[in-house]
Amino acid sequence: MIDIGVNLTSSRFASDRQEVIVRAVAAGVHTMIVTGTSVSVSEEAVQLCAEHPQHLYSTAGIHPHDASSFNDNSITQLSGLLIREKVVAVGECGLDFNRNFSTPQEQLSCFERQLELAVELKMPVFLHQRDAHKDFLRLIKKHRSGLVDAVSHCFTGNRAEMESYLEQDLYIGITGWVCDMRRGQDLQEAVKYLPLQRLMVETDAPYLFPGDLVFPEDNQLSRKQRKSRKRNEPKYLPHIIKSLAGFMEQDEEQVREKSTQNAQRFFRL
Ligand SMILES: [Zn+2]
Repeated sequence: MIDIGVNLTSSRFASDRQEVIVRAVAAGVHTMIVTGTSVSVSEEAVQLCAEHPQHLYSTAGIHPHDASSFNDNSITQLSGLLIREKVVAVGECGLDFNRNFSTPQEQLSCFERQLELAVELKMPVFLHQRDAHKDFLRLIKKHRSGLVDAVSHCFTGNRAEMESYLEQDLYIGITGWVCDMRRGQDLQEAVKYLPLQRLMVETDAPYLFPGDLVFPEDNQLSRKQRKSRKRNEPKYLPHIIKSLAGFMEQDEEQVREKSTQNAQRFFRL
C-alpha cells in the first residue's frame, strides 16, 4: 500500500518518527509520500527521504495557508527541490478559503504559479481544495491541457464536486475523512460513484484520525491520553481502505491493489 499524503515532518512526530515509519511498513504501507507544504518543509521532507530511501518520497510546494510566504524566490527554490530524485510531485498547492490564513488573492497567484511550474517541469501536481471549489476548478480547467497528471488530495466534497474533477481527469485522494460518521456523509455517498482507476488513498497523518477507529482499552484512559492516541499515523491506512471499500461497495483487496497501482503510475515510482 502507498500512503500518498503523510505530513511526516510534523513536530507531532518529533519523538518517534523512526518508529512511525517502522510501524507503517509493518502494517503493509511500504511507501509513503511526504507532503511538502512550504519551501522549508519541502526541504525537510527531502532530508527525511534521504534518511529512509526505501520507503519515502516527497512533494515540494507551498500550501495555500503558506501562500503569504510566496515571493519571487519561491519558484527558484521549489525548482531546485523538484529536480531531486525522490521528489515526485509539485504541491501541495491549491486554495483554502475555509480559514484564509493567507488572503484569497495571495492564494490564487501562489497556486497558479505552481500549476505553471508543474506544466513546465512535466510533473504531476498534488492539489488541496477547501471551500474554494469554483475558483479551484476554474484554474484547473485553464491549465489542465498542459498538466501531465493531477490529484485532488484529501477530497472532502460531495458527488457533484467529485464528478467535476473526474471530468478534468483528476485522481481523487481519499483520507480517513470518509470514516467520519458525522462530517463524512457526503463523501461516503460520493465514493460509490468513484471509479477504482481514479482512486488513491492517504492518511494525511498526523491529522484526520479515522473517526470510526476505536480501541477497546480506551475506556481506561484519561481524556488527555485518549487525545494523544488520536494522532493519526500511516499505519492506519489499511483501516481506511477497509472502511472505504465498504462505502464504495467494492472488494477490499481490489481497492488496495488498484489504489497502489494508481499511485505507482501517478508518481512514477
Ligand atoms: Zn491538504
